[in-house]
Amino acid sequence: MTNFSELNLNTKILASLEKKGYINPTPIQLQAIPPVLEGKDLLGIAQTGTGKTAAFSLPIIHNLAKSGISVKSGCVRALILTPTRELASQIAENVDAYSKDLNLRHAVIYGGVSDRAQITALQRGVDILIATPGRLLDLASQGHIRFMQVEVLVLDEADRMLDMGFVNDIKKIIARLTNKRQTLFFSATMPPAITDLASSILTNPTRIEVTPQSTTVERIDQKIMYVEWRDKLPLLRHILKQPDATSVIVFSRTKHGANDVEDYLERNRIAAAAIHGDKDQDQREKALNRFREGKIQVLVATDVAARGIDIPAISHVINFDIPADPESYVHRIGRTARAGRQGVAISFCDPHDDTLLLAVEKAINYKIPVDNSHPFSVKKSHESVVQYDSRKGERRPQKQENRTPNRAPKQHEERRENPKENNRENRPQKKKKGGILSFILEIFGIKKTDEQNHHSRRNRSGKKDFRKDDSRRNNSNQSRRPRRNHNNRASNNSKNFS
Ligand code: AMP
Repeated sequence: MTNFSELNLNTKILASLEKKGYINPTPIQLQAIPPVLEGKDLLGIAQTGTGKTAAFSLPIIHNLAKSGISVKSGCVRALILTPTRELASQIAENVDAYSKDLNLRHAVIYGGVSDRAQITALQRGVDILIATPGRLLDLASQGHIRFMQVEVLVLDEADRMLDMGFVNDIKKIIARLTNKRQTLFFSATMPPAITDLASSILTNPTRIEVTPQSTTVERIDQKIMYVEWRDKLPLLRHILKQPDATSVIVFSRTKHGANDVEDYLERNRIAAAAIHGDKDQDQREKALNRFREGKIQVLVATDVAARGIDIPAISHVINFDIPADPESYVHRIGRTARAGRQGVAISFCDPHDDTLLLAVEKAINYKIPVDNSHPFSVKKSHESVVQYDSRKGERRPQKQENRTPNRAPKQHEERRENPKENNRENRPQKKKKGGILSFILEIFGIKKTDEQNHHSRRNRSGKKDFRKDDSRRNNSNQSRRPRRNHNNRASNNSKNFS
């Protein structure tokens, strides 16, 4: 295998790599470094965790140091745009390590903090500026940044920047740069909008694709755990008690959800901290540092807040809920199995989240194995709903008779620990109609019992559920109607796999 010394990098850069313990370049570094050193544009399709930060920053540092041009006040020579402040800080840390002895200045700017120190850093001019688009434009519009010396532009995590609504900011920034620049464009996925953006700003780029689009890292042991919403917190506690769950990041779809998880863990004496958009930069950094140093076992995060977190030792990623956007799944699980390590990614799947799960599996083109070996498994209802036909590679519903009602068994209700977690499910049950008359008819065997009624009740969509209403099934053509219970969502979605 090629090692870094064969890539013709500056010896001071090689020394910094050695200090970091990097011996061999990762595949993306191997493919990206030579063309970037030659000054070519680059289109890199790569997920986080592949080593892409070094893939673009090492050759940039080498070239800037080699040309030795001095940067003017307020000017920038290499501009790295990235979607979040966490990712910006992470890149800055890497740039700092690789360029330490090379007499290059770098700075990082992002929103949510005072701009005073950032403006001071820019006044002297910086060789490498790492920035989030919004703060960059703010400072540029106030005259603190001048773009005429920009030799290299990097767009990192371009798909994420687009998702976060930065596309106009990016276009405004690019419009201010000279055309005589080198552009490096990195994205985990290439949806049409990203392809268009890339082709509008790259000139004859070298294209490298390290992993196929949207597939997830092989070193990650991915699992689905089917669990009723009300058992998610106890299941989380159960996993966190396992000896291998040393450093765990828990993803929550919402800020409130993240706070609830943090509260629950604290109540259960599990050291945890939450990071999300309502926490200020100082709180986030403190939480991240405590997590990085191993002072807390669990970091609870929303998607946006966790972007760019690079902590090599994360043992587990737990998706407390299936992300609404399948791409987020890829980004979430990429927080583990970094730097050649193994990792575990467990996704809690509420019985009602099958549709989201199918969307994720379709996006990653992988059927995530189901792990039922936990005490809160709702295995029965799900094995009956979702079956995998290995010959066809598709999901199909199992026969009707084996289905169990979606209602959770009573013992699960007793385990309820956080009634706030899912409001929809926590609505008070409507009182049953009937009263005394109903009771009298029932004890005389004239009326169906609650249990019988349960199977023929109307489901949430207001459609009559004919599943076990045997009298109807046997006696009328109604039984051949399509079954409309929401358990059928999986089978409806199986079309996606065919
Ligand atoms: P990135 O995709 O740039 O976020 O990098 C993922 C992780 O891999 C980070 O923890 C890096 O520090 C680490 N890394 C990057 N390049 C190498 C390398 N050549 N050898 C070992 N670890 C690396």
